[in-house]
Amino acid sequence: MSRLESFIRRLTAQRDILDQVCAEVAKIEGPILELGLGNGRTFHHLRERLPGRRIVAFDRALAAHSSSIPEAENLVLGEIRETASRFIGIDAALVHADIGTGYEDRDAVTATWLPDLTARLLRVGGIAVSGTPLDHPQLQRLPLPPSVPTDRYFICRRV
Ligand code: SAM
Repeated sequence: MSRLESFIRRLTAQRDILDQVCAEVAKIEGPILELGLGNGRTFHHLRERLPGRRIVAFDRALAAHSSSIPEAENLVLGEIRETASRFIGIDAALVHADIGTGYEDRDAVTATWLPDLTARLLRVGGIAVSGTPLDHPQLQRLPLPPSVPTDRYFICRRV
């Protein structure tokens, strides 16, 4: 598969998954945490799907399109491992993590801290969506939409 096809698949998977979980997240109290604001496309989608909900976005640096920049109080810059740790206990309804790199060695390092951090950020019953695996005893895997190939994206519920 070409990288272009792979990219299209990733974006399609993100949209289908976010649409699936937003219907449920709408019924769960708590803020949304967007780990990896990037260009802001998924932030923009979440804002459209969950109007009025607080969305806190994290990244190393601001590089989002001007239409997709959170309010200053909801934009947190720096290394997510450190910055998001300060939000433990926020009882998020949804954590969306899009910080995979496509490099196995780098993503393996992320896998050492992201699952535990995600579990601590979520309220019980909250949902995590991630492009990298979230193996953790408090994160129970949920089924993916039929359009998304297994192990491309991960949806979990905080138990
Ligand atoms: N979902 C975004 C969108 O739709 O535009 C794209 C996110 S992009 C793939 C990943 C972003 O996460 C990059 O902007 C990168 O700087 C950020 N990122 C990755 N790992 C990070 C880390 N450990 N700390 C802070 N930011 C990180």
